[in-house]
Amino acid sequence: MIFKTAEEIERIRESALIVSKTLGMLAGEIKPGVTSLKLDALAETFIRDHGAEPGFLGLYDFPNTLCVSPNAQVVHGIPNETPLEEGDILSVDCGALKDGFYGDHAYTFAVGQIDPAVAKLLQVTKESLYVGIAQFKANNRVGDVGYAIQNYTKAAGYGVVRELVGHGLGAEMHEAPEMPNYGRRGRGKQFKEGLVVAIEPMINQGTRRIKQLKDGWTILTADGKASAHFEHDVAIVNGQPELLSTFDYIYESLGIQSDEEIPFRKKTKQ
Ligand code: MG
Ligand code: MG
Repeated sequence: MIFKTAEEIERIRESALIVSKTLGMLAGEIKPGVTSLKLDALAETFIRDHGAEPGFLGLYDFPNTLCVSPNAQVVHGIPNETPLEEGDILSVDCGALKDGFYGDHAYTFAVGQIDPAVAKLLQVTKESLYVGIAQFKANNRVGDVGYAIQNYTKAAGYGVVRELVGHGLGAEMHEAPEMPNYGRRGRGKQFKEGLVVAIEPMINQGTRRIKQLKDGWTILTADGKASAHFEHDVAIVNGQPELLSTFDYIYESLGIQSDEEIPFRKKTKQ
């Protein structure tokens, strides 16, 4: 595992916030009739206008700036010409690279009015992200975060995807440690000051089982039910979890009030 200096953490924060602003911009564009390819083009331009490079474009030969995964797609969906429809959900995962460091975060959006059961999936999955983040602190272990997310989402009857996991983040998009969304308390690698990770629950309304499309990328639920994905970049600072990314730009665009990030915000010095 690579432990970052305070200066390196600030550089990761800069890239993470470019992603946060990109998702905030997209929040105002995601509506019935819009294609994911349009969203992808907007995101690429926005990231470059902010002095960064798209983090996913070309990474492992991925063809686009955004991973866009509607409805039963879990992650890694490829942008296409299919217009969004009222009642869809759309997971948007985005990366940015600036000054040698990556940001990587994701949000699942509702397209217009959605099924209340699916709205609950989104809410519980997002809550589980913060339940996991609260366990990302010095001396805790990888299994503490995974257990917390698994326990919270299984209680709602959901399936926790196992084949895809969160990860360390820095000069590489994917660094050690792997951060599964399941696990056992007190097990796995131990967290220390300066570790930066992407925590990203991928939670299914039904079975945890997944399959992959022939495109070699798109992951979808085996039962065709909905899947949600929320991701934040988090550092351990003074032993505690500190958010480097934020959903504030999304909430500003959508007119949502939320205090969910307050416990994990950067502490301003007196
Ligand atoms: Mg991501
Ligand atoms: Mg990630």
